[in-house]
Amino acid sequence: MTNSTNTPSTAADTPVRTRFAPSPTGFLHVGGARTALFNWLFARKHGGQFVVRIEDTDQVRSTAESAAGILSDLQWLGLDWDLGPVPGAGKNEYFQSMRLDIYRPYIDDLLNRGLAYEAWETPQQLAAMRMAAEKAKRPFRYRQNMPGRAPRGDGPCVIRFAIPWEEIRFVDEILGEIRVAGDEHDDIIIRKSDGFPTYHFAVVVDDHLMGITHVLRAQEHLMNTPKHLGLYAAFGWQPPRHAHMPLVFNMDNTKMSKRDKAKAARHALQLYARQKNDADFQKLAESLQPSAGVGSIPRVDSRAIGDFVAKKNDDTALAAVLAASIGVTLPEIDVHDFRRSGYLADALLNFISLIGWSPGENREILSRAEMLDLFSLQTIGKTSGRFDRKKLQWMNGEYIRRTSVDGLVAAVRSFLQVVEYPLADADDVILRQIIAMYQERMATLAEMAENSRFFFTEPKIDRSAGEKFIARNAGHAALVQIRDLLLSAALWNSESLSPIMEQIIALGEKRGAAAQALRVAVSGGAVSPPLLETLLLLGRDRTLARVDHALALFKADPPEPSQ
Ligand code: GLU
Repeated sequence: MTNSTNTPSTAADTPVRTRFAPSPTGFLHVGGARTALFNWLFARKHGGQFVVRIEDTDQVRSTAESAAGILSDLQWLGLDWDLGPVPGAGKNEYFQSMRLDIYRPYIDDLLNRGLAYEAWETPQQLAAMRMAAEKAKRPFRYRQNMPGRAPRGDGPCVIRFAIPWEEIRFVDEILGEIRVAGDEHDDIIIRKSDGFPTYHFAVVVDDHLMGITHVLRAQEHLMNTPKHLGLYAAFGWQPPRHAHMPLVFNMDNTKMSKRDKAKAARHALQLYARQKNDADFQKLAESLQPSAGVGSIPRVDSRAIGDFVAKKNDDTALAAVLAASIGVTLPEIDVHDFRRSGYLADALLNFISLIGWSPGENREILSRAEMLDLFSLQTIGKTSGRFDRKKLQWMNGEYIRRTSVDGLVAAVRSFLQVVEYPLADADDVILRQIIAMYQERMATLAEMAENSRFFFTEPKIDRSAGEKFIARNAGHAALVQIRDLLLSAALWNSESLSPIMEQIIALGEKRGAAAQALRVAVSGGAVSPPLLETLLLLGRDRTLARVDHALALFKADPPEPSQ
């Protein structure tokens, strides 16, 4: 395959219609979200329509939960579609599995015209043919006139499309002219032995029937396009314009993929085993037994763990269970992961828009309106984009600070639908106060939800903080004084607590040290939002009860024995 210089094409006269066509075999990957976003931007920018189509022709790997999850994530990102599935309703005609009757006559048509044919090889026979080609050091291309094809059998057969032996050329809107030599093709399968069309076939028929004018998808599909163009030609249809977008890479130059989770879990398990000085995962397996093998939770036993560590499987669900069992968080890969980690939809969308797209002038923070204004296929790069998690965290923090408290209340409520935190107990009044305390300092909503736990559940006081700030350094005595000061507050409001806080801060030799004992007592750790607000939100009774509890827990260390 070769490509020459970028040859931008003129705008189509027909109204623009783009589509996002996910296969529902898992969660929506950030790379998929970027594809959806670019299609959405392109359609909206040109006053066109954006279609969502669920490509569920793989009966084994497609699930209804995955389709629902993908739609929910698209909605969360605010990528609305004009035509497509109706969330919450059953399957409609935008699910390929509901369109089998539509595909059938097109397959028959190709068969009748001799442009498609039945192929009877079993998977084993095909593997043997492939191996023979490998041995002979020639590329394996399945063709109708190749020697050694299997005769008609009794079992199920597939249907293949006899792709022409000609060079296929097309102009990619991003990559320029692409040429694929005639001998680089296979006669692709268009109907599988289960009677379902393959992706290659359904995608062409649907893009045509749905009036798609532009196909924007990742570069991993680049080599599929010539095959699809062969089908368009066979039907005499005008193909849509194609634009293949750069892949999404990790910072270490590996492709960002679902397997990264398995990789991270494996690495963590190996470290864990080394630390325990015990490579036998039996104990770990035993501790996991109660939840093993139920519903969608994978079966976990020492063999499964051993196989996983030995890279015999990359199962993401197993990776998640194993990582959780040793207290390790896996990297976020899917939109759902970022949602659970407390990223704002707008921040994530802004961030993914910049992977492989450059709005110019080093612009980074862009509203949707600005994205729409600046977006064009000419400004999409040809080379892979990097996914810089640190930058995403920074950007999320920026968005949090720029969002109104009302906006954050809504974001937190949406966040609490996908992950459990005691913060869910807060009513809107309390939630607003918590947000006000953390807005300036948090990078993610999860950080706030985690750090504000102590407002809702009794904190377990961190041992080292308790020893440092209460047991030692005259902290205990200071806390006793603080208790009296707090008791003297006429009312538990800002007016009467402010001067008391001043006194607390001034206590002892080092300004602020005594206040630190109070902080540890009420929050369980040495870091918390400003004390005055913390005390106001906790209320008098809970504050005093926590001070008493801390005083009982961390007795003053006896003075050093004199020499
Ligand atoms: N269902 C395909 C996928 O998820 C869509 C590819 C395309 O856009 O044509 O990769």
